[in-house]
Amino acid sequence: MVKNFSIAIDGPSASGKSTVAKLIAKKLNFTYIDTGAMYRAFTLGVIEAGLDPKSEEESNSLIGKISISFDEENHITLNGKDVSQRVRENDVANNVSYIASYKGIRLHLVDLQRKIAKNKSVVMDGRDIGTYVLEDADLKIYQVATAEERAKRRYKENLEKGIETSFEACLDNINKRDYIDSHRSFCPLHPANDSVEINTTDMTIEEVVDAIIEIAKQRGLTNGK
Ligand code: C5P
Repeated sequence: MVKNFSIAIDGPSASGKSTVAKLIAKKLNFTYIDTGAMYRAFTLGVIEAGLDPKSEEESNSLIGKISISFDEENHITLNGKDVSQRVRENDVANNVSYIASYKGIRLHLVDLQRKIAKNKSVVMDGRDIGTYVLEDADLKIYQVATAEERAKRRYKENLEKGIETSFEACLDNINKRDYIDSHRSFCPLHPANDSVEINTTDMTIEEVVDAIIEIAKQRGLTNGK
């Protein structure tokens, strides 16, 4: 019987987690699960319903009323519609950390994340994967970079995607999300005790991927799905 493995990649906003996680999943033939996209999709659901993301009560009222999943191409969907581009826009980015601080919504999405990860080898990225969602992950990575470097990367990425922003707006959004994500009472962002920290400020994506694959190999996590 093939054993299933899990790799958790956590860290602050725009530290390159999803790019790296996607490449690692491809190399190891694991399934990639972008949990940030799930919080973003929920946020979009709240906005589209005309509710206030800053109100916990209004936002909670959508639990069980909207459906969030990944399609065959691993794109995030909200009520069956591909919203993978839409959830990157500023109105979602500026409100997602409020939504992610509400316990009821977190418990609901964590439940979904665990169901999606069941019986497969996965690379899952987020903020609380190694500390909560997959506490028994075979490898836990905590990826960091300076706020300026992360804002630079996010600004470049937005330009490439045709999303209008400025460097200052990206930096401001990153600082705000860092604060809210690491100060919320339930499952705040912090490294798991048994995580390996990688500072990517001066590393290329390939270097980060190679470093993680090397650790995965050392731990024997390479027999795929
Ligand atoms: O990773 P990404 O930037 O897309 O995540 C968007 C937001 O979702 C984060 O700023 C954070 O507030 C929230 N999040 C979270 N827990 C996760 C993944 C994302 O709280 N596991």
